[in-house]
Amino acid sequence: MDNLDNLEKLIWFDPQKCFIDGVWQDPNSNNYLPLLNPSSGKEICRIARCSDQDVNLAVSAARHSLDGEWGQFTALERGRILQKIGSLVKDKIDLLSKIESIDVGKPLSQSKADAIALARYLEFYSGAADKIHGETIPYQNGYTVYTLKEPHGVTAHIIPWNYPMQIIGRSVVGALTMGNAVVLKPSEDACLTALAFADICREANLPKGALNVITGYGSETGEILSKHSGINHISFTGSVQVGTKIQKNAAENIVPVTLELGGKSPQIVFSDANISQAIPFLMKAGLQNAGQTCSASSRILIQKSIYTKVEKALAAQYKNLTIGPAIQDFDLGPLISKKQVSMVQKYLNLGLDLKKIAELKLNDKHENGSFISPTLFGMVDPSHALAQEEIFGPIQVLIPFDDEEEAIKIANGTKFGLVAGIWTNDGSRQLRMAKKIKAGQVFINNYGAGGGVELPFGGTGHSGYGREKGFEALNSFSTIKTIAINHG
Ligand code: NAD
Repeated sequence: MDNLDNLEKLIWFDPQKCFIDGVWQDPNSNNYLPLLNPSSGKEICRIARCSDQDVNLAVSAARHSLDGEWGQFTALERGRILQKIGSLVKDKIDLLSKIESIDVGKPLSQSKADAIALARYLEFYSGAADKIHGETIPYQNGYTVYTLKEPHGVTAHIIPWNYPMQIIGRSVVGALTMGNAVVLKPSEDACLTALAFADICREANLPKGALNVITGYGSETGEILSKHSGINHISFTGSVQVGTKIQKNAAENIVPVTLELGGKSPQIVFSDANISQAIPFLMKAGLQNAGQTCSASSRILIQKSIYTKVEKALAAQYKNLTIGPAIQDFDLGPLISKKQVSMVQKYLNLGLDLKKIAELKLNDKHENGSFISPTLFGMVDPSHALAQEEIFGPIQVLIPFDDEEEAIKIANGTKFGLVAGIWTNDGSRQLRMAKKIKAGQVFINNYGAGGGVELPFGGTGHSGYGREKGFEALNSFSTIKTIAINHG
């Protein structure tokens, strides 16, 4: 057990239980799996390995809640309870941040930003709950036609390990806002804040069954959940490979899916840009959470006339980076697991033929954790694997381009389309580029807009489809019923 980080003093719930029908329960399987601290490699605790019986219980608890107290809640009451959950989350921001840093290996200040974002999602959606409604539609004489926005029913949420709190905020909270009942399956690699969130909902008196949290392997618990015939909608955030399986499973039950998948997001720097303003964004957007971010800016496209200047400025920034245990809040923490390290190492090996611009070396203090050297490669051909594939580690590539046309071709030249950043002070070019870029979000002279709870988020191509965040999420988590009355 990892008593270095005193986790037992931080977690107030039993991580070996699952949360079903408003109470903490032992898994029927009586099986458990270990949860590791990526900074030290030590076991933090064990978590439940939920079986088909547990999944069945969670889905039927959710169904009963829709037929019972939760289904009777008015929009105003839903908003009020989300507000209460939000204020409890706010009270626990420091605690949640520490738990997340130990579990995910995310530097403490970045975990804190996630906890603050979760509270902000609850604030945003609690206010939105009673402001979203159907409409009346002008139709033939003698008719009154209107629409109702209704919840899907039971929604399944299968989420990854990299941003559990933010993804709970934009997906689970969005679904609850619209009156759905949720079954949440967090990642087997990091699930403690999902369990903490369940207990906060219990404390806030969220009606039983409205939120259920089951843990376990994706290929087991996740697979059973995504195939379950009692599910009415699936929100999946994760890899393209698993997203494809989820979509196939959902097709068997004719269930709608929101897929938030990977990315290879570019930032494009034109010669007229404010370079000193851009530099910190160019680097941080690629290295945040050690590059394990779906919207990580792993490709930096630079106009040839300023290429050398930008390359030098970035190399200087890389020199100042620090890396170490997450709880000590260095610039970078470890990757989530040794498995992730070997996946990223594979790409570093593929980059042996490339020009290495900067690399932060590790030392023996990093030996036990899942650390890897952040590395910047220069003059990379856009067709190279490092410029095409999602690496999910702290590796960035610099790609030179001649003009606007070539920049667009390179930027749109991967199978992904999640986020893009454009750095230019030419107003006409800003508008042209924003229109032509293939991405769900385009940022001009910034990147990420600080997370933006209010801003619809999602991808095109292999980055997925459907939108979460903002009011758009509420459309994803509801369906329209049209009512036509012939009153003569
Ligand atoms: P993953 O696909 O391996 O796992 C995601 C979730 O799916 C986990 O809860 C896992 O247990 C579950 N799972 C795995 N196999 C399953 C199966 N066969 N059936 C059902 N569930 C299964 O992804 P990951 O490694 O946890 O996360 C990294 C990936 O997530 C990256 O590709 C990243 O880009 C993507 N991601 C996307 C976004 C976004 O919003 N677009 C956000 C975060 C992460």
